[in-house]
Order: sequence, then structure tokens, then C-alpha cells
Amino acid sequence: MYRGRFAPTPSGPLHLGSLVAAVGSYLDAKAHKGEWLVRIEDVDKPRAVPGAADNILTQLEAHGLEWDGSVLYQSQRDSVYQHQLNQLENAQRLYQCDCSRRTIRARSDHYDGYCRNRQPRSTPYALRFVNNNPIDTFNDRAHGVLEDHSASVSEDFVLKRRDGLYAYQLAVVVDDIEQGITDIVRGSDLITPSFWQLTLWQYFTAKQPRMMHLPLIMNDDGRKLSKQNHAPPIDSSQASNNLFTALDYLGIQPEPELRHSPAREILEQALQSWCKKWHIAGR
Ligand code: GLU
Repeated sequence: MYRGRFAPTPSGPLHLGSLVAAVGSYLDAKAHKGEWLVRIEDVDKPRAVPGAADNILTQLEAHGLEWDGSVLYQSQRDSVYQHQLNQLENAQRLYQCDCSRRTIRARSDHYDGYCRNRQPRSTPYALRFVNNNPIDTFNDRAHGVLEDHSASVSEDFVLKRRDGLYAYQLAVVVDDIEQGITDIVRGSDLITPSFWQLTLWQYFTAKQPRMMHLPLIMNDDGRKLSKQNHAPPIDSSQASNNLFTALDYLGIQPEPELRHSPAREILEQALQSWCKKWHIAGR
């Protein structure tokens, strides 16, 4: 059974780039007659903007993107993440690291394992994963085989940050596994962390999810459209137009007459095109 998800960080409202990830992951799940879950990635609590999660959910509904089951909030899952860290600790796959970003940079462009065999001299400290078996290759449905043999892929990455927050890499993998996610469809900005995440999947479970990284939307000066770059929020009263734009980035052009149709009808037609484009049978 296919199970996919859309996992926004509630640091602001949806912009066109995040709508593309939402629509792509939704269509792929529905094309496979699967489920599409929504998870609010507010593990970095200081980054979460009050009201943004509700706003995102309302925006999704306005665009006809109905999710299955209930929404999972990472901010409510500290005990689950801590439990996994305890397991890793018992298995001797974690160590404490009190290096600051500055001292790491002064030594190398990646983390060099400096604290692996050393007791930290000071608090606070981060917890790092003993990365003995890094994954540096995976098959992506959109890009084909992706490889990254850089030293950062095989570094001992952080699972709990020095500021005490659980790291995104830990939360996303623990949640994807617990939610039974079979397919991860998201923006290509997340290709690099995929190597670390697949390494953690390999540690926790024999299964690996299928991956598909969607095109990124660039703004006029060639930078990725993102909240940090002040991408404008999408206007839910223009849902059909927004869907047309997002679908165009996904390589799908619905019939122009549908431009004034409700979002659900546009998505229904887009689903047929998605199946054809990605050779998904049975719809
Ligand atoms: N929360 C991440 C973001 O908004 C997406 C994580 C994911 O799809 O795996 O960029």
C-alpha cells in the first residue's frame, strides 16, 4: 500500500514552491491509489510561527488537497524522539560533541569526527550519529541514480542539537518510518539531506522509501523560492490559478477551460496526466 506525505515546516504560509511539493506528493499518492498524509514539521519550535500551521491546512483545503487521517505535529513527539535516541545510545551509535560551528569550520568543511573518542569538556553538547555505513547513492524516480561521495555525506551528523532540540534528520526519519511512509515526494532542495536520511532508514529498518525530488522554483535572481527569500504567500481566493501555475512547474497543463473550475476538478484531470507522465497504470 502506497503511503505518501506532505511535511511543511510552519515558518510561514505556503508559497508557490511549497504548493508544488504539496500537489506533486498528492497526485503521486492518489495516482497509486494510496494515502496522502500531512505532517506539520514544527520540531524546531523557535522557528514555528504561531498560527502558520492552521493557515497552511486551510490553504491546502482551499486548493482541494484533502489529506488522509489526522495531522501529525512533531512538536508533540519529544518522547518518541528521545526514546529513539536512548536506543541509539544503548547501541553505542551516539556520542556527545561540544564543538561549535566555528571550531568545526576552522578544522574542515565537514565534521571530522573530532569528538568520537573524546569526552566533551563543556556543555552544551550535541549528540552525533556514529555514521559507520553511509549511503551515498540512491535511485530517484525523477533524477535517476543520484550519488554524493563528498565527506559531508559520511560525516557523523547531528541527531540532537546543542540547543537541546531534536534534529530535523532524526524527526523526519522516525516519523516517516512510524507512519508507514513508502514514498517521499518533495522538492529537490532536499536531495542532499536524503543521503543522511536514507542512512538512518538503513539503521532503523530494512526497508527504504522510494524517493522522488520535484523541480524547484527559482525567483528572478536565480535563487530558490523560499520563505527565507520572502516568497509571497499564495492567495487562496486564486486557488484554480495557483494550481495551474503549480501544475505547469510539474510539467502538466490542464485544459484551459478548466481555469475557472473548482480545484477538485482541476486535480482530477491532473491526476490522469500525472499517471501518463510517470507511467503509472491502473487509473
Ligand atoms: N519540512 C521540510 C520543509 O518544509 C520538508 C521535509 C520533507 O518533505 O521531508 O522543507
